[in-house]
Amino acid sequence: MEVLLHEDLAALSDLDEQSLLESLSQRFRQDRIYTYIGDILVAINPFKYLPLYEKEVSESYKYHEKTKLPPHIFAVADRAYQSMLGRLATGPRNQCIVISGESGAGKTESTKLLLRQIMELCRANSQLEQQILQVNPLLEAFGNAQTVMNDNSSRFGKYIQLRFHNSSVKGAKINEYLLEKSRVVHQDEGERNFHIFYCMLAGISPEDKDMYGLLNPTQYRYLNGRYGSEDIVRKWGEKYSEVCNAMDMVGFEEQEKVDMMTILAGILSLGNIMFEPTETDALRVTDKSMGWLKATAGQFGVQEEELLRSLTCTLSVMRGEAIRRLHNQQQAEDARDSIAKVAYGRVFGWIVSKVNELLAPNVDFDVELSEIGILDIFGFENFAVNRFEQLCINLANEQLQYFFNHHIFLMEQNEYKEEGIEWESISFKDNKPILDLFLTKPIGILSLLDEQSAFPQASDRDFVDKLNSKFKSSPHYEVVRSHSPLFTVVHYAGKVQYNGLGFLEKNRDTIPASIRSLFINSVTPLLSLLFLMQKADDNFNSTRKQSVGAQFKHSLAVLMEKMFVASPHFVRCIKPNGRKLPDQVDNKIVMDQLRYNGLLETIRIRRDGFSWRPSFKEFAQRCTFVHLMKCTLCGWCLFFSCMSILNTTEIHGWKCGSSRMFFKYWHQEELARLLERLGK
Ligand code: ADP
Ligand code: MG
Repeated sequence: MEVLLHEDLAALSDLDEQSLLESLSQRFRQDRIYTYIGDILVAINPFKYLPLYEKEVSESYKYHEKTKLPPHIFAVADRAYQSMLGRLATGPRNQCIVISGESGAGKTESTKLLLRQIMELCRANSQLEQQILQVNPLLEAFGNAQTVMNDNSSRFGKYIQLRFHNSSVKGAKINEYLLEKSRVVHQDEGERNFHIFYCMLAGISPEDKDMYGLLNPTQYRYLNGRYGSEDIVRKWGEKYSEVCNAMDMVGFEEQEKVDMMTILAGILSLGNIMFEPTETDALRVTDKSMGWLKATAGQFGVQEEELLRSLTCTLSVMRGEAIRRLHNQQQAEDARDSIAKVAYGRVFGWIVSKVNELLAPNVDFDVELSEIGILDIFGFENFAVNRFEQLCINLANEQLQYFFNHHIFLMEQNEYKEEGIEWESISFKDNKPILDLFLTKPIGILSLLDEQSAFPQASDRDFVDKLNSKFKSSPHYEVVRSHSPLFTVVHYAGKVQYNGLGFLEKNRDTIPASIRSLFINSVTPLLSLLFLMQKADDNFNSTRKQSVGAQFKHSLAVLMEKMFVASPHFVRCIKPNGRKLPDQVDNKIVMDQLRYNGLLETIRIRRDGFSWRPSFKEFAQRCTFVHLMKCTLCGWCLFFSCMSILNTTEIHGWKCGSSRMFFKYWHQEELARLLERLGK
C-alpha cells in the first residue's frame, strides 16, 4: 500500500537517487508504469500490452481530478486541453507537451496516446479528427524503421501542432526535423530500411507490381537483399493497405500516390546500378546492371543516357566554359546514393507539406486559434561512432534540456528571489555554455562548420583543426589527438566523441545542378515538382540555399520561440532495459536515464517549489468568478477578498510575494474544486 502513496514522487520523504529508482521500479513491477513527480509524468515502457488505454479508462480521465486517479498519459492530455481552454487558470493558453527519452523509451507511443485522447476530449468525431489520427500511420510508414534499439524507431523528429477554436479542433500542422536519409542507402547490421519499402513490396497487387516495375524484394541492394518471414510479410502487407487508406483519408490524390510509389520503385532500382572501370578513363555500368539503369530511368521518367551521364561525370561551368569531369567508381557510387537520399528526403518532405496543406485550419483569418503542440524528438545519442547527425540530435537535446531547466529551475528561482520568498537555492547544471559553444556567432561549432563548408577546398580535418584551435580551453570541449578528425564535446548528459569525417559534405548537402535539371525535366509530375520545390515552410530562407546546420539551427530557434511562450508539460519516458523485454528493470540503465533527465533535482524543486505563480491581478480575476465579492472597485480590493477566502479554506502552504501569489502545484486543483463548490 505504501507504494501507492508514492504515485507522486514529489511526496517522497527520503530523497536520493536510490529511493527514486526503487520507487519507480517497485511501481513498474506492479505494472504501474506511470508516476508523477509533481506535474511531470514519468513513463516507463512496459514492452508488453497493458489494459491501460481502453474506452472506459479514456472516459474516466476526461475532466478528472488529478489526485483521484492514478498517474496516466491521458491525465497529461486532459491537463493540456483544460489549460488551453483556460479552465485551470494557468498562464498562456497555448500548450506544449515535451516528450523526451532515448530511443525505444516510448516517446512515439506516448505521442499517439496523447493525440488520441485529445481528439476524444474535443469530441471532434468529424472527418478532420479522423484525418489527424491518420497522419501518424502515414508518417510512420515513411519515417520509421526497425533498428537495434526499437523495432519501430522514428528516424525523424516531429512537432505536431493541434489548432483549436474554443474547444473544437480546426486543423493541425507537422514540423519534421532531420530525417535520417542515409538509411535509404545503408543500414547497419540488424537494422532495416524505412518501413514503406517492405510494406509496398508485400502489399501491392500483382498488376501494380508490374506497373511499377517491382521485382523480387531480395534482389534489392538497398534492402540488403533481406526480406522477412511469411508472418512478417503478411503484417507488412496489412500495413500497406493501412497506409493507402491513410493517404486516401488525409486527401492524397490517386495520381500522387502512383507517382510516389513509382519514385520509391525507382530508388530501389537505382541502388542496384553498379559501375566498373574501362580501359579508358571512363566508367561504365556493369553488364549485369544495365537492366537496372533502364528500369530506373523508366521509373524516374528521365532519359537513360542523361541519367547515366549524371552518375558518371560532373559538369561544371568555369569562366563560361562547360567542363566535364569524369567520376571514378567511388564518386559514381556516391552520386547514385546521393540521388536516392535526395529523392527519398524530398518525397518525405512533400508528404509533410501536403499533410499540412490538407489539414490547415479552414477558418477566417481573424478567428483566434489556440494550440497544443506535442514534441516527439530523438533523445540524446552516444554511439561507437558519432557523426554529423548525432551532433544535430544532441544539440537539439541540449536545447530541450535548457528549456526544461529554464522552466523548472531558473524562472522559478529567479522569481522567488525577486518576490522575496524564502527559498533554499537548488543547484542544477546550467547548460547554457554548451549551447553557446554550438550556436554562438561567429565562433560557435555551427558557424565554423558553415565557414569551412563555404570553401570548396576545405577538408573535414581543417574543420576539426579550427575547432581545436578555437575551443581548446573551453571546459565543454576536448581536443582528441588522432589521425582521424575526432573531437569531443562535454554535453550535459556526458562526453561524446564525434568523428568529423563527412561533416562538410553533409552540411553542404548540395545536389549537382545536372542532377537537379535531370529531375526537373522528369515526365513524372511529382518528381519534377519535388526538385523545383523550395522547402516552402517557415524553416527555410528561400533566397539562398542554407546549410543543413544553419537550417536546423533556425528550425530549433523557431521551435523554441513557440515553446517559450506556451505552457509546458513534460513527459519523461524511460526504457527499463536494453533488450526490449517486459518486466525487467536494469538498474544501471534506468539510473543513467534518471541522471540525464535531471529527474532527481526535479523532485526536489517540485516538492519544495511553487509551480503556480499567478500575479495578484490574475489571481483576483480568477476569483471574481465566484461572485461572492460585491466590490468591483479595484484589483487590490479583490485581492484582499481572495486572501480572506484563502485564509478561511483548507488550502494551506501558499505564499504571498510582492506582486504575485505562490502556490504548490496541487493548489491549483484544490482551488478549482473550491470555486466549483462556491458556484462558479
Ligand atoms: P521511441 O519513440 O521513444 O523510440 P516507441 O514509442 O517507438 O519509442 O516505443 C518502442 C516500442 O515500445 C513500441 O513499438 C512498443 O512496442 C513499446 N511500447 C512503448 N510504449 C508502450 C506502452 N505504453 N505500452 C505497450 N508497449 C509500449
Ligand atoms: Mg519514436
